[in-house]
Amino acid sequence: MKILVPVKRVVDANIKVKVRSDQTGVDIENVKMSMNPFDEIAVEEAVRLKEAGVATEVIAVSCGVAQCQETLRTALAIGADRAILVESNEELQPLAVAKLLKSVFEKEQPQLVVLGKQAIDDDSNQTGQMLATLAGLPQATFASKVTVTGGKVTVAREIDGGSETLALKLPAVITTDLRLNEPRYVTLPSIMKAKKKPIVTMKPEELGVDVTPRLKTLKVSEPPKRSAGVIVPDVKTLVEKLRGETKLI
Ligand code: AMP
Repeated sequence: MKILVPVKRVVDANIKVKVRSDQTGVDIENVKMSMNPFDEIAVEEAVRLKEAGVATEVIAVSCGVAQCQETLRTALAIGADRAILVESNEELQPLAVAKLLKSVFEKEQPQLVVLGKQAIDDDSNQTGQMLATLAGLPQATFASKVTVTGGKVTVAREIDGGSETLALKLPAVITTDLRLNEPRYVTLPSIMKAKKKPIVTMKPEELGVDVTPRLKTLKVSEPPKRSAGVIVPDVKTLVEKLRGETKLI
């Protein structure tokens, strides 16, 4: 069983990004880039399925600029077997990525596609759902437990106030939530080993996909600044203030 894992190159989660002065977006020049954290969880899950003898091959795929190769190398270091870069300098929006992934899915015929639930840069939470719809596949989003048996996969999903368990026929699309697993620490030997694993590059035109952006960002702005707080001398004053300012007490 093959597993396809789409991984996105995003600004590192520990970087505090700044909005550009012309409000056209955030400044990502000379900023550390990493694999989207939910995609690390997706690669880890796929590799665990391979280590458990359920999967035979894990293929990582990234769509974007040439530097996405670094992200793919990280996926290979975690344990993916090979990688595909769909190279484009266009801004790739979720619909375009879903179409590219559908095309890769048709070429590779995996039984499972495991994506992150959302990319931390655009927070779209759309690509997995769009891919499942375009490819006519069952989907289970926000997975916190994945079990493959026979021709089906059972997925526990995080939903408001609890968990829901779904059984899906393979092939299927899954998106990962935070609690699915804790990705392993990538060791130096595995980084060295990953350098020898193959990365194939293709272009959107070869996959027959028009990636022209459909959405236009009109404006990006910082959240409003919090107004300064007040220090009160004691609890009595605090309670009086709260009584005066809210209707809760
Ligand atoms: P989004 O819908 O943008 O929040 O992204 C959800 C998931 O889709 C990510 O966690 C990735 O698994 C996948 N994805 C999004 N954009 C890309 C991309 N450019 N290349 C590969 N995978 C992507």
